[in-house]
Amino acid sequence: MLRKTSFFVFVLGLLFLAGCATPQHQLPDIQDNRVYAAAAEIAATPEPTPREVSDHEAVARISALYNQLKPAALEVCRYVGEHHCEWELTYSPEEEVNAYASDAATVVIYKGIVQYARSDAEIAMVIAHEMAHHIADHIRESQNSQAVGAIIGGVAMTLLLGDAAAYSGQVIADGMQIGAVAGALTFSRKQEMEADYLSAYIIARAGFDLDAGRGILVKLGRMSGRTESTVLDTHPAGPERLAAWDLAAAEIRSGSPMPRKR
Ligand SMILES: [Zn+2]
Repeated sequence: MLRKTSFFVFVLGLLFLAGCATPQHQLPDIQDNRVYAAAAEIAATPEPTPREVSDHEAVARISALYNQLKPAALEVCRYVGEHHCEWELTYSPEEEVNAYASDAATVVIYKGIVQYARSDAEIAMVIAHEMAHHIADHIRESQNSQAVGAIIGGVAMTLLLGDAAAYSGQVIADGMQIGAVAGALTFSRKQEMEADYLSAYIIARAGFDLDAGRGILVKLGRMSGRTESTVLDTHPAGPERLAAWDLAAAEIRSGSPMPRKR
């Protein structure tokens, strides 16, 4: 049972591997007609609606999906050869369609993702996307670029949650820990597209259906413009992400085993 608090977090899974170098992936080349088609598909999609989900149910589902994703994410991470093959999964009970990656290993998934998702693959896509920000070392890249940005343009990091000390935790999976949540960084469009690209490989390798996974991108595209969610503000436009996802899916189905490096 969970105590009633303003914020509840859990952290699970800590894995460490060494690596080096900045990733450079050959991202799908999106043609305009594909973006228009994706925009039309998004526009024709009914308004997404949430369903009732308890915190217990959401945490159990996210934990299970994370555990299913982890071996595939590790394989991709080793292949990419970066530092951050380490994730601390954190749940936020806020009913907001949001998720982010921060700090050395933090991946935060909001309850709203589970409320709006209609398949495991959609939730897996979001978890894998945030894991991929760590795999590709985007946090460090953003911290560097934001430090520069703060000097030249007044760009600031957003502290989403200052209430991390007030939590209650429940043992849900082996290795679970309680952790604090820090701020969310804003990633560049290219970093977001790279995280989507790596996410497609991770979920495919973990056995999730790529067409089912794209459902969350359709929903995010449909919802953008009418919510305040930072995941929508900081991410590329829905049609572009959807079109890129389909190209990545085609690449994977054609037999490409791992993300293409430049
Ligand atoms: Zn992202």
